[in-house]
Amino acid sequence: MDDRMFRNAMGKFATGVTVITTSVDNNVRGMTANAFMSVSLNPKLVLISVGEKAHMNELIKETGKFGVSILNREQQEMSMCFAGQLKENRDIDFEWVGGVPVIKNAIVNLTCDVYNSHRAGDHTLFVGEVSDILMQEGEPLGFYEGKYTKIS
Ligand code: FAD
Ligand code: NAD
Repeated sequence: MDDRMFRNAMGKFATGVTVITTSVDNNVRGMTANAFMSVSLNPKLVLISVGEKAHMNELIKETGKFGVSILNREQQEMSMCFAGQLKENRDIDFEWVGGVPVIKNAIVNLTCDVYNSHRAGDHTLFVGEVSDILMQEGEPLGFYEGKYTKIS
């Protein structure tokens, strides 16, 4: 099967946009991800899928912790920054929750401890146990057919 056909089909599943974050020796790294889902209520588990070639993959294995920030519709540039889609580097000021960096002004910030992980093809599925949640009002940024969109 052609890769483009698969991506076009998966792109029909409208999602929000998150930034996954972690910190090694106070050096914060972030990665844009839409492969995110809620998994379990008891215990509180979520799942992210991170490409094997992404720097974030090794970093989460090293730290055993990650943050998930659900972006608001004003934060498309933040998404582009952490997807490597901007030409220039940005100086981002992170918020810290229990020693985990997260994106300021996002609709939701979760902090997670890695519960388990599973290699799946060219990605690793990280299941995270949620340790803290911050929420604020706002409209979400959407992603549909490979393009940013507004969900209203
Ligand atoms: P890097 O290439 O190391 O970093 C990504 C970018 O973030 C770089 O430009 C870097 O300069 C910048 N950056 C990192 N940390 C900082 C910091 N502290 N301050 C300022 N800038 C910083 N990939 C997946 O594996 N899973 C997904 O679910 C997924 N979903 C995506 C959804 C969307 C809408 C998009 C656009 C991309 C998605 N990607 C996903 C692709 C992924 O975001 C990119 O491939 C990413 O560049 C790979 O991350 P990396 O860990 O190698 O990050
Ligand atoms: P696109 O048309 O490639 O994405 C449409 C959909 O295809 C995505 O929402 C996702 O569900 C799926 N997809 C795309 N690349 C994938 C991959 N490598 N592994 C698994 N599923 C994938 O959209 P685009 O605007 O061209 O994407 C920008 C960049 O971000 C591309 O390099 C793309 O590969 C990457 N991306 C990766 C993932 C992922 O790894 N899960 C998800 C979205 C985007």
